[in-house]
Amino acid sequence: EGIEYEATIAFLVNGRWSMESEVSRPVCIGTKKLPGLPDKPKEPRLTVLSEQSGQMRVRWQPITTVPALTGCTVRFRPVGERAWQYVHPTSWNLIEKDEGFVPAPAAEVNVVGLEPGVRYEAMVAFKNKMGQGPFSTSSEPACIGRPVQKLIRCTYCYNDYDLQHSDYTRDPDAYWCPLCRFKHMDPFNAVVEPYGMLLCHIVVRPNINFSLDLPELKAWRKEDQSIFMRVVKMDSDNCAQMWPKRCHFEANGAEVFLIKEPEEGHVRRDVPMNISAGLKPGLNTISITIEDPYPAGYVISLVRTQTMNAQQIAAQTPACNEEQAKARVMTLLADTWATPVDNEEEEEITCVISNKLKLRCPLSFERVDIPVRGDECMHLQCFGLGAYLESNMKMRALNNRWTCPVCNTGLRPHDLRVDGYVQKVLSETPDRIEEVLIM
Ligand SMILES: [Zn+2]
Ligand SMILES: [Zn+2]
Repeated sequence: EGIEYEATIAFLVNGRWSMESEVSRPVCIGTKKLPGLPDKPKEPRLTVLSEQSGQMRVRWQPITTVPALTGCTVRFRPVGERAWQYVHPTSWNLIEKDEGFVPAPAAEVNVVGLEPGVRYEAMVAFKNKMGQGPFSTSSEPACIGRPVQKLIRCTYCYNDYDLQHSDYTRDPDAYWCPLCRFKHMDPFNAVVEPYGMLLCHIVVRPNINFSLDLPELKAWRKEDQSIFMRVVKMDSDNCAQMWPKRCHFEANGAEVFLIKEPEEGHVRRDVPMNISAGLKPGLNTISITIEDPYPAGYVISLVRTQTMNAQQIAAQTPACNEEQAKARVMTLLADTWATPVDNEEEEEITCVISNKLKLRCPLSFERVDIPVRGDECMHLQCFGLGAYLESNMKMRALNNRWTCPVCNTGLRPHDLRVDGYVQKVLSETPDRIEEVLIM
């Protein structure tokens, strides 16, 4: 296909050849290929050849090129690794540098010395006399035996999470699993319990194809429920939405959304995408394409969510009763009083925790209605729950939401506590009092 052919004929008469005819008009199957670098190959297939000797085989589909193919370069690596290795064409070992290639017309090569329990992937690129063409996308991964688990304890739900091929390099005491992060990403669109997590997948390959059965989609829409695509980076300790460089989402052959690279000098405002309108009740064929230097660093999810208003979130905020809250205030202040005041430096430290309690909300500047603060905040000052939720709801940049207005630490609705002690102080002081000192 793509190559022009031509023919001539000659007759054999009484044992003697006649003169050759003129050359025919050239004919080509399909469109004629112009001389150039080979095209991008189809993704290769990777199969386990021998479990005992750690062998796999990479197979590819040769193509027609002008000039003709001379060979194929094969790259190989454990899934999740950034650097590629190359398959040496005769020793079948993995080598760091691109030395030599599998000569045409071979369409497969073996790889030796592979470890059991590790998932590997391969890529191929064709060569001809003009040079090397682009690499294919990577193969489906293959593994000798079962993949070895890489477990890490989630400090939020206390479940062990299998990192698979991905890495987490930050403080293990701050690890929360992607499931927990997706659930707490946007309290105004809460994940429906217990079956709201429709998909949670650590990206392996840049193309993700699957079908999604949504027989009850119509009923969900009526109840103000939506389906969002949310994405986080595995190697992160916060639950901020983080799109890859580019992400294309297709459902049933039609584009649902496209996240483009930010223009130079611009910061992209990453928000989860509501895909409900792009889906249909029943079976949906989904195709997600990711372009990023390191796709394996992302975890993607599809979640079914319920719209929540401030009142609904307030109703779910835990309270810290008066007694506990008072004990906490005393502990905080006792620490302050116990700190020796020897020199200037330490004196400053003692000022960090103030024994002043403003009764006006630092957000609304009105008297606090329902006083809240973070479970782990180290200050007495509270702020109004309504004002806090409202100011966050108005904040368009989702990833800037949910920080304490007093101490700036991360503060999601489930970390809030209604402070029973401050509530009592509020109820026992007349409206004109703006500030009290706690002794
Ligand atoms: Zn968790
Ligand atoms: Zn705080």
